[in-house]
Amino acid sequence: MTAKKPFEIARDTLKQLTVRKLPPTPTNYQRVYSEIAGLPIEPPFPLDRLRDIALSLPAKTPGQQKQKALLESAIGNLNWNGVKSALMAYGGFTPATSAPGSAPGEAETKPLVESKVAVTAASPSAGTYALTGEFFALIARLIEYTLPALTSDDERFLSQTQALIAALREPSPDPTSVKLSLANYTNRLSFAAEDQAEIKSMLLRLLHLIIDNIGQLSIDDSWLLGQVEALKTVCAPPLTLRRLDDLERRLKDVIFKQAQAKERATQVQEDMRRMLGAFVERLGAMSTSTGVFHSQMEENAKLIEQAKSLTDIAPVLKRVVSATRDIAHETLSARDELQGMRRKVEATEAELAKLHQELDRISAQARHDPLTGALNRQGLDEAINREVANLRRKEAPLSVSLLDIDNFKKLNDSLGHAAGDEALAHLASVAREVMRPQDTLARYGGEEFVILLPDTNLEQGIEAMTRLQRELTKRFFLAGTEKVLITFSAGVAQVAADEEVPEAIRRADQAMYLAKRAGKNRVCGA
Ligand code: GH3
Ligand code: MG
Ligand code: MG
Repeated sequence: MTAKKPFEIARDTLKQLTVRKLPPTPTNYQRVYSEIAGLPIEPPFPLDRLRDIALSLPAKTPGQQKQKALLESAIGNLNWNGVKSALMAYGGFTPATSAPGSAPGEAETKPLVESKVAVTAASPSAGTYALTGEFFALIARLIEYTLPALTSDDERFLSQTQALIAALREPSPDPTSVKLSLANYTNRLSFAAEDQAEIKSMLLRLLHLIIDNIGQLSIDDSWLLGQVEALKTVCAPPLTLRRLDDLERRLKDVIFKQAQAKERATQVQEDMRRMLGAFVERLGAMSTSTGVFHSQMEENAKLIEQAKSLTDIAPVLKRVVSATRDIAHETLSARDELQGMRRKVEATEAELAKLHQELDRISAQARHDPLTGALNRQGLDEAINREVANLRRKEAPLSVSLLDIDNFKKLNDSLGHAAGDEALAHLASVAREVMRPQDTLARYGGEEFVILLPDTNLEQGIEAMTRLQRELTKRFFLAGTEKVLITFSAGVAQVAADEEVPEAIRRADQAMYLAKRAGKNRVCGA
């Protein structure tokens, strides 16, 4: 019997579908085609189910997004091998063999394991990766390191993780079962990571609420209000340890000042209450003594009326004189007491004025400049200490930049000092947006700012400052309705190994002057 040609098989397949009254679905067609061609009947490709699975896979990370797209494309092409390798890569595994017939693009999936570690010399032709014990131990360590970041309350997840780590550390783990456990773990891990992200954003929302609340409690204090606004900016995502550190210091400032204000307010209130009490008591005593005096006088008047001789009057007169003396004495001491109270009130007022001065001094000592929200000199000193400690620990480069606004005096003269103030705040806010979260902005003087740039060498520092310059030309400062272009000149210096940071700032300052001399609106390296 001669084998049928493909077009004949196709024609017969269509005939058979009609004869058997089968709907012409791809699955029915394939089944009848295989039957006529004498091919093994393969189970149909579960297109819808696989699409369903692909749809429910999270795509949070770029890696997940890429593998999910590859999976969807493989499903669309009914490509089993493609589905398999995309799913394995999604789960963090390297395919054991390169998938023949994979769709273009799948080959991009980089092996998880560096070839140096994992490709065995024995079977390079098969492209098989030998998963060594060392590699498993590495994964175990990786999982262990991620644990604190998850701080999951899920006991099952925790024990599952521990079991996986133990399995990975066995002398010769079974790759198939490890693969399976790892795939499960990856799945749960992605949910746990999502949970953590949700918890973080919820905490941030709570923090915002608290800060708002502090703001509403401090309506009469402009310094505190400024700080509250700055706090809101600092606790906006992305959160970094550095930003949290900044947040903590600002909150401490706010709490300290609020505690002081509250303590003094309570004390003043208590003083006033006591004085008012004494005053009322005093008034009561005075009216009692005048009342006694009146009744004594009435009695004396009666005695005088009844008196028949001067000898009768003499003792009465004596009593009148004594009562009058008493009341005069009483009045005098009341006056003294009232004067004393007045002096006390004045002293309290003076103390309050002193307290205000003291609070202003404390505000000045706080680490932030109220106008721009940038660190002030004290804040900068602390930030420098922190950066120096980091520098010594990580041996990473640190650069500093000093920038000075160009022709700021002219801006003040033409638009007014208030607009000048707003321009300073504008520059600080653009700088905060443009610089990386780990960079530190400080107001160094009137219209001069210092920026600390960790993990940045001279060249990168100049690049960062040039970027800020460019952004500033894009984001106009609005003085009323007038668009004003602010430019600055900056110097950048990389802190040398044996150099103190203030010395590097001095070099950056010199470079800034060079930039001014060269025509302003430019960045020079020191
Ligand atoms: P250059 O381009 O050479 O830097 O010129 P300049 O005008 O910017 O520099 P100059 O040092 O001559 O003037 C700086 C001005 O900045 C003078 C001062 O009144 C103003 N200034 C300093 N601090 C503040 C502030 O807090 N608010 C306002 N509005 N102006 C300030
Ligand atoms: Mg200046
Ligand atoms: Mg200037």
